[in-house]
Amino acid sequence: MLQQTQVKTVIPYFKKFTKNYKTLKSLSKSSEKKILKLWEGLGYYRRARNLLATSKILVSQYNSKFPKTIKEIKTLPGIGDYTANALLGLVHDQPVIAVDGNVKRVFSRLINKQESKINFDQLIDKNKIKFFNSKRNSDFVEALMEFGALICKPKDPKCNICNLKKNCKYFNSSKKIKTNKRKMIEDKNYDVFCYVNKKKQIALTKKNNLGFLNQFNLPEIRESKKNASTGNWKFLKRYRNSISNKKLNMNLYYKFSNKIPESFVWYSMEENKEFIPTFTKKIFRQVSILF
Ligand code: SF4
Repeated sequence: MLQQTQVKTVIPYFKKFTKNYKTLKSLSKSSEKKILKLWEGLGYYRRARNLLATSKILVSQYNSKFPKTIKEIKTLPGIGDYTANALLGLVHDQPVIAVDGNVKRVFSRLINKQESKINFDQLIDKNKIKFFNSKRNSDFVEALMEFGALICKPKDPKCNICNLKKNCKYFNSSKKIKTNKRKMIEDKNYDVFCYVNKKKQIALTKKNNLGFLNQFNLPEIRESKKNASTGNWKFLKRYRNSISNKKLNMNLYYKFSNKIPESFVWYSMEENKEFIPTFTKKIFRQVSILF
């Protein structure tokens, strides 16, 4: 849940989730529909799907225990190098480091060398004995990530209160390296076509090819093309939406109609038992000005 999401946003979801699923087994017996409803509003829904799929694998293949090798962990859905290392360190207290942006920045500043010029695997391997001498590996892994997020921050690192400043080459150098710029945000334009009816309903389909929301309930959405015809759709408004590292410019069109294409289903714009992603709810809010 915490991937790309702040702790304060996650807390109510975490409480609700763990209240519903007290054991790995109960989670593994749940349905995608129920999990997505509990996750509604938190975004990055692939995480919820992967969590459910992983729980099923752990129960059926690993006797409800978490595997102990990186090779096995990386076969679980949605788990790559970073998460596998974090889990090995945090769950099994193994001497490994999950190298994320925070950790890279801390190391790069400590030796005052650009991230692109550092082989982090080599650096960690060389210093393994030094890093893991406390027998508190999991605390070290967590502390390193937190240190990057709270003290050695991207902008304005808190060097004055930092315990490492005596040995930090960045702090002590007159020629400090520049911190890596954040990933460029991608700007995209989309046309959204909404069938609506007088009952304040909107037609949605799971058949869409929008990669980041594939198989979720959405109106018809197409990437905007210059001079493309919008037929008899009426333009409603233009608005912005952000999703992961994309900034989306949305052109919203609508049509009052009782007939909808086969793969579409009517949904209320006010209350739905089925999971509706935040992205779609935002469309509801824009369209509701028609009523
Ligand atoms: S002294 Fe400053 S730059 Fe160096 S590790 Fe501490 S916070 Fe980061």
